[in-house]
Amino acid sequence: MLDWCLGSYRDRLFQRPTCHAKVTLLCLFMTAIVLLGTIGAGKFGTQEQHFNYLRHNFYSSRKRAEPQKVVIELTRNNSRNDTNTKSDDPNSYASFDVNKLFVDEGEDDENPDSDKPYSLGPKISDWDQKRAEWLGENPKFPNFVGPDKPRVLLVTGSSPKPCENRVGDHYLLKSIKNKIDYCRLHGIDIFYNMALLDAEMAGFWAKLPLIRKLLVSQPEIEFLWWMDSDAMFTDMAFEVPWEKYKDYNLVMHGWKEMVYDQRNWIGLNTGSFFIRNCQWSLDLLDAWAPMGPKGKVRDEAGKLLAKELRGRPVFEADDQSAMVYLLATQRDKWGEKVYLENAYYLHGYWEILVDRYEEMIEKYHAGLGDDRWPLVTHFVGCKPCGKAGDYPVERCLKQMDRAFNFGDDQILQIYGYAHTSLAAWRIRKSSN
Ligand code: UDP
Ligand code: MN
Repeated sequence: MLDWCLGSYRDRLFQRPTCHAKVTLLCLFMTAIVLLGTIGAGKFGTQEQHFNYLRHNFYSSRKRAEPQKVVIELTRNNSRNDTNTKSDDPNSYASFDVNKLFVDEGEDDENPDSDKPYSLGPKISDWDQKRAEWLGENPKFPNFVGPDKPRVLLVTGSSPKPCENRVGDHYLLKSIKNKIDYCRLHGIDIFYNMALLDAEMAGFWAKLPLIRKLLVSQPEIEFLWWMDSDAMFTDMAFEVPWEKYKDYNLVMHGWKEMVYDQRNWIGLNTGSFFIRNCQWSLDLLDAWAPMGPKGKVRDEAGKLLAKELRGRPVFEADDQSAMVYLLATQRDKWGEKVYLENAYYLHGYWEILVDRYEEMIEKYHAGLGDDRWPLVTHFVGCKPCGKAGDYPVERCLKQMDRAFNFGDDQILQIYGYAHTSLAAWRIRKSSN
């Protein structure tokens, strides 16, 4: 071997890279022999075993924890109260107790002053005129972005705090990713709110002060589309028939007979709706809000709603029941400008849809928005971010994954991919 490296200067110059390569190869070969002798060749039987071996023996040892121990810690830390078992490694995200971040925030359920009637803010009565002036002065921000195409802002949000179980935050992320995809495809702006604008209006009532604030702060928006965090787009191709709503200010999924005749508390749904930016809508928000303040007001209103509405159990007043009650009791005042939509799923109740996705794929195509390919699948009652819902958690989360993947396949398809199944996060190259 030494001979290879001797010779004329010119030869050496020419041969040096080859010589170095040969020495390197020899060294690698000998290292491999020594390694195999130490740990046994059997462990490198397949590519996969090799990868697993390296991962477990080198990767996790860099984290100073054995793989099994990490799994146990992850499982333990799913239970937030289990503080005794936390690892004291300050660099470990896996074992960090997130509650440490919120110690100085105080409680958010101070008792509101129940003597003072609630209001969403100072009364506004000249909004149509003010907005028209603003639009006139700002021609670069028109409220219509095309013929019959209003400027739309989709608004959604969640509590400022992390979810009760951290898997809930993962589903919030999936849900906002899903909405971003739909909005990008349809030229809709998006706003995600995590601030509690009004402590009295916590929970499902939080959307009211938020909607009002956004309408008056952004006069260029023609329609605001509220969508719950537990609702997902399952038809990425469906275009909302905006021209149909030119004479209406509020569009909700629902049925006239169920709201006005039967006063059924599920006659409409407030998880996904359009509200026009105008004085009428500000007035409607004012009329909708009084049952919202947390505590005595909301509890008492809940009893009234349970008495007055068909099928409603007794629990604190919710925004949906309050809307049914408002429309049913003051139809003359509001009814003319309210469109109850049921030609497509502006909101679609998840239980009747999720088991049919495979059948829909087989028989139909995106863009229909209705029974055959629902625009929205809404996980009413699942409460993935809360303490407990009305359905088994596993069922909710599995079905939320299916809905997400069903919608996501319509996005991935653009790039030539698809989920391997509706239950899988893995993807494959699609045939087209
Ligand atoms: N929400 C919010 N802030 C909160 C709690 C809830 O913005 O602090 C929103 C969230 O988008 C949620 C919606 O209010 O989806 C309504 O609540 P939920 O979906 O749990 O009610 P359901 O549809 O099950 O009746
Ligand atoms: Mn919801």
